[in-house]
Amino acid sequence: MNHTDAIAILLGTAADKPADGARAPAARTAAEEHVARCSDCWTVVATAHQEAFGEAPADADRMAALFGCDVIQDRLFLLVEMRPAELRIREPEAARHLGWCLSCQERMTELRAVEQAAAAGELPSLFAPTPKWRETMSRVARSPRGS
Ligand SMILES: [Zn+2]
Ligand SMILES: [Zn+2]
Repeated sequence: MNHTDAIAILLGTAADKPADGARAPAARTAAEEHVARCSDCWTVVATAHQEAFGEAPADADRMAALFGCDVIQDRLFLLVEMRPAELRIREPEAARHLGWCLSCQERMTELRAVEQAAAAGELPSLFAPTPKWRETMSRVARSPRGS
């Protein structure tokens, strides 16, 4: 399941069946499994939920803790320099996170492509790593929540 499908299924369901989503259980399960491993999609779904219902999803805190992407993302520039074996030894937590987190895997891949292009002398000014996801993440992190 890709990002677009996962979001469409979860938001489509959220529009008419907020909580229990009785229909298309297989697709919905696949979408939920995707979102459980993909912080980007989770952010989209959580933001949509916030807009639709005026509050963050019940498990927003748990999911934020589960992902821990911000810790990885802050150090992605360092992590991308390491070989996988080196990464597992020196940064076991990060290696584990990168083992399942689709969002961080994609960022890592993008960053690696940029670094390789830079190393090859093709400095792609048009293709600087976009900070868009950072904006989204920090906006969500800052968004006011009832305590
Ligand atoms: Zn996704
Ligand atoms: Zn992550």
